[in-house]
Amino acid sequence: MPEQEGIEKFIRADLAAFGGYSARTSPESLKGKVAVPVENIIKLDANENPYGCSPRVSRALAGYEDYHIYPDDGQTEFRKLLGEYCGVDAGHIVAGSGSNQLIDLILRLFVNPGDEVINCVPTFGIYRFSTDLCGGTMLEVPRDVDFGIDTAEVKAAISDRTKIIFLVNPNAPTGNITPQSEIMDILDTGLPVVVDEAYYEFSRQTVAPLVDKYENLMVLRTFSKWAGLAGLRVGYGLFPVGIADYLLRTKIPYNVNVAALVAVKESLKDIDYLNDTVKAIVAERERLCEELGKIEWLKPFPSQANFILCRVEKGGAKELRGKLQEKGILVRYFEESRLRDYVRISVGKPEHSDALLKAFGEIETTL
Ligand code: PMP
Repeated sequence: MPEQEGIEKFIRADLAAFGGYSARTSPESLKGKVAVPVENIIKLDANENPYGCSPRVSRALAGYEDYHIYPDDGQTEFRKLLGEYCGVDAGHIVAGSGSNQLIDLILRLFVNPGDEVINCVPTFGIYRFSTDLCGGTMLEVPRDVDFGIDTAEVKAAISDRTKIIFLVNPNAPTGNITPQSEIMDILDTGLPVVVDEAYYEFSRQTVAPLVDKYENLMVLRTFSKWAGLAGLRVGYGLFPVGIADYLLRTKIPYNVNVAALVAVKESLKDIDYLNDTVKAIVAERERLCEELGKIEWLKPFPSQANFILCRVEKGGAKELRGKLQEKGILVRYFEESRLRDYVRISVGKPEHSDALLKAFGEIETTL
């Protein structure tokens, strides 16, 4: 590696080659490069809620008058409301600026340089990102052909340096569920286990009731997907009470902004509306999955979340992503070897699926 010069020679040597997280393409950056105006781009690349947030949120934010006052650093109201939503005591809850921030906080709390973190891949990329930032070592246990986890292999990967095991349920980007019995098997190792339930509202599978029983279980949730608040950055976790106290002490002050708090309050008052949009997305997921299955060169995987992973069996997945992008439809492609032949498609409104299916029909002739 070339020697760093100037101010750069003072930065951590282990971060010199750090690649960062490859986030989705922003529509703004595509201006002039795609066949449609930016405002007509169909975003099926980041698992956002196409119906947006509850109208109560927009109204409350427009009328909110205390933007000049810092939020409550102790998150009192947040913890109470989310505890009620999840059916646990408020002492278990910590909120974050997106659940990404909680992943980062957890790793900072547990992982010293050289410590190990176990991950079942392919899965969400932020665990590796934050583990690398902490100087930890990520041990990757491959999932099977249907993306199920191998609990025996997870246990075999444990060493005396293991600090955390990450599980995502339903997994991203594959969409499949890990049975509760397998999660409990891993919890029985006694090691800290994070179960990321970012897509819980779509799957309705949860280990939240086990937080009272297992002192090594941490469950992560977010308002980004089901509640349509991705842009406001608000997530939370259910933790053993002692760990929640540590996280509250180690987080940056005022880590969740007042607008996010207003939005969460209003969302929780409008659960019926939000559940209806979740139902619409789940119904559309099933329709889209069936339609994608009729395309000879695509293999969609059944999903319990708001996205569908598809294997591209002709013409290349990256090329397909590019051709869709030219037509103004964004889907996600992952630069990692196991997912080289796949694209992940977020479930949008029925008209978004129709546009996608039409585009596939047009692209087919060029494969
Ligand atoms: N966990 C999983 C599995 C995800 O897919 C995502 C979003 N892509 C997150 C956590 C982060 O969500 P946020 O930070 O928006 O709450």
